[in-house]
Amino acid sequence: MRKLGRGRRIRANALGELALKSKKVMTQTLKQKSFKKLVVANWKMHGNLKQNETLLKDFVATISNLKNTQVVVCAPYPYLAQLQSLLQDTDIAWGAQNLAKEEIGAFTGEVSAAMLKDFAARYVIIGHSERSTAYCESDENIAKKFVTAKNHGLTPILCVGETLIEREAGVMEMVVGKQLDTIIKLYGPDVFVDAVISYEPIWAIGTGLAATPAQAKSMHQFIRNKISALNNNVGNRLKILYGGSVNPQNAVQLFEVSNIDGGLIGKCSLNAKEFEGICQAAEKAN
Ligand code: PEP
Repeated sequence: MRKLGRGRRIRANALGELALKSKKVMTQTLKQKSFKKLVVANWKMHGNLKQNETLLKDFVATISNLKNTQVVVCAPYPYLAQLQSLLQDTDIAWGAQNLAKEEIGAFTGEVSAAMLKDFAARYVIIGHSERSTAYCESDENIAKKFVTAKNHGLTPILCVGETLIEREAGVMEMVVGKQLDTIIKLYGPDVFVDAVISYEPIWAIGTGLAATPAQAKSMHQFIRNKISALNNNVGNRLKILYGGSVNPQNAVQLFEVSNIDGGLIGKCSLNAKEFEGICQAAEKAN
């Protein structure tokens, strides 16, 4: 082996130390990134000023100071100001359930990313199956919304999932893979950095029939592997939530699964006790 001169040895040692240091920082960042579970309330089209106030005050009293869990509330647009006023001094973050793919202009009824930011929203749900089915949202539209959210510093929570027929036909990975591919093809895998994906089997949403921990584990693994194969760092940092009939009881087992980083919660997020139970399950599972 060729010997290095003194100067080069010192430089090589310094470079080695630098590499070690940055590896340590990277490991710490990864640990911090993956450390907290994320539990997101999706209120859908429920609530009014009075009910929301009671619910939010209950959330603040019971789940606003969790150490290992980030709680987020996604409410209908008109209540973003209320979320901001009641949650701004707490650790609970808030967001919306949709956004426009366009920036500004003649798009009657749409709400832009900048408007969400005006109310200090940090998160936005994208591509929920209730929207893609009822309002015929295409994967391309969803991809554009995803990148618009990212461009504005919002964390997109991208919903993916298969129907019951698709699961029974055994094509669930193909279906979810295709949903992700549209975004990857348009914007590349790096667009998933610090994003959130929520695996939501459509047959489990609002039916009381949650996926088993094994079913969720296998799909979460598939999603992470798919992104990791393209960019390992992005794949490792990705938070993958499970959504579909999560309740305080099944949350305990679901959140124990290593690849489940939290949950997207519909019905049970409208009940303070049940939502608290789910958040506490996340807190304990960490
Ligand atoms: C949802 O709306 O994303 C959802 C998972 O709903 P639920 O918890 O009611 O199944």
